[in-house]
Amino acid sequence: MTAESSAMRAPVPATAERESPELAIATAFFDAAAERLGLPDHERELLWRPELELEVRIPIELRSGVVRVYSGFRVQHNGSRGPFKGGLRFHPDVDRWEVRALASLMTWKTAIASVPYGGAKGGIDCAPEELETADLETLTRTYMNKVESILGATRDIMAPDVGTSARMMGWLMDQYSISRGFEPAIVTGKPVELGGSLGRESATGRGVAYMLECAAKDAGRDVGELRIALQGYGNVGRWAAEGLAARGARIVAVEDAAGAVHAEHGLDVRALTAHVAEAGTVAGFPGGERIAHEELLACACDAFVPAALGGMIDEDAARLLRCSILVEGANGPTTPAAEADLLDRGVLVIPDVMANVGGVVVSYFEWVQNLQHFQWSAEDVDQRLRERIAAVYHDVCAQRAVAGGTSSLRLAAYELALSRVLTAAKQRGYTSG
Ligand code: NAD
Repeated sequence: MTAESSAMRAPVPATAERESPELAIATAFFDAAAERLGLPDHERELLWRPELELEVRIPIELRSGVVRVYSGFRVQHNGSRGPFKGGLRFHPDVDRWEVRALASLMTWKTAIASVPYGGAKGGIDCAPEELETADLETLTRTYMNKVESILGATRDIMAPDVGTSARMMGWLMDQYSISRGFEPAIVTGKPVELGGSLGRESATGRGVAYMLECAAKDAGRDVGELRIALQGYGNVGRWAAEGLAARGARIVAVEDAAGAVHAEHGLDVRALTAHVAEAGTVAGFPGGERIAHEELLACACDAFVPAALGGMIDEDAARLLRCSILVEGANGPTTPAAEADLLDRGVLVIPDVMANVGGVVVSYFEWVQNLQHFQWSAEDVDQRLRERIAAVYHDVCAQRAVAGGTSSLRLAAYELALSRVLTAAKQRGYTSG
């Protein structure tokens, strides 16, 4: 399309019918990156719109005798760089707009992580905690039957997300294998006994630790010298803390939903993890003093790791932070206004789309192992993860340098993602004839 014909078209609306926080951020940075790259409308449209959306109805008679009709979704956003890849979410709020937004984020994340996948997402609008295990299994297997025709180990690969687990990935694999033959590569995040990768559970948190290691090195510092505060001590926060402590960093404060603890000379992370396994929270850990939420935010530290929920670092929280590096372990923890404030103050913000890619990187390793029918050692997985994370850090920083070195890492990461996906799309050609 020429510049003239492109100019005659109405701009592609990059907003959806329903706003979600994820979509608002994805939209804003998609638009900003597309603007910076000077993409014409047809290229924006190619990158923005999903390639395929499937919505299915799943009527189930529950063990209680009640009949429910659930809606299931699978959105394949962009498959230019490889098979579609993305999680399956079970949550009452799931709808086509949320799934669409999350699918596009997977396209950008796989491109930034440089794993050979496109982006997808799936979901069912159910509350899994209200269902008996047998009903959940029926729902999961019926969903697989209904969407199976668009899946495949070289077409579209699922993984766990909010409300789904390794066990459910086992059911999905089994259901698919009934009609198609044994196919572990159809889904990642499986139990290790079914072909899941060693090191998958810790991958996102360890990736956060390796990313911070790279940023520290870049700033002429050793990660072992850093004082770290973490918000959230679940899967991501706990493994990030363990990874950082293993490299000598001092974990000075940790918060979860029930409270926060602080120790100027550093918390004993192993003892803290053992305490959480027993008490279900960091609160009451005898190896540190209890502090208030505001004290956690304002504690003296070099790096702060939000690893809890989205939107927790708003402008009020950002004003209190005293770190020089903020590493987003969680998805979307920093509001755009808070990020602007932090950047103004010279804080290095390492965004979610590069900081928490460890999970999708090791999902890719799982898929590769399944295709090879071979299992790598935990050390092998960890070493490869560390190398990949270093490459992601380097690539995003290089992109920022190309763009003049003044943009945020988030904008540079989106620019990198859009360029990589667009290059692949163009190389594959616009028409199959
Ligand atoms: P999780 O449920 O295991 O842990 C969440 C933690 O946050 C818990 O410690 C919880 O107590 C804490 N928390 C909840 N509300 C809080 C509050 N108000 N104040 C302080 N702490 C609070 O979840 P997770 O798997 O660790 O995921 C955390 C974030 O990372 C989410 O945004 C998730 O989307 C993102 N993420 C996770 C993965 C993964 O592989 N698990 C991958 C990429 C991104």
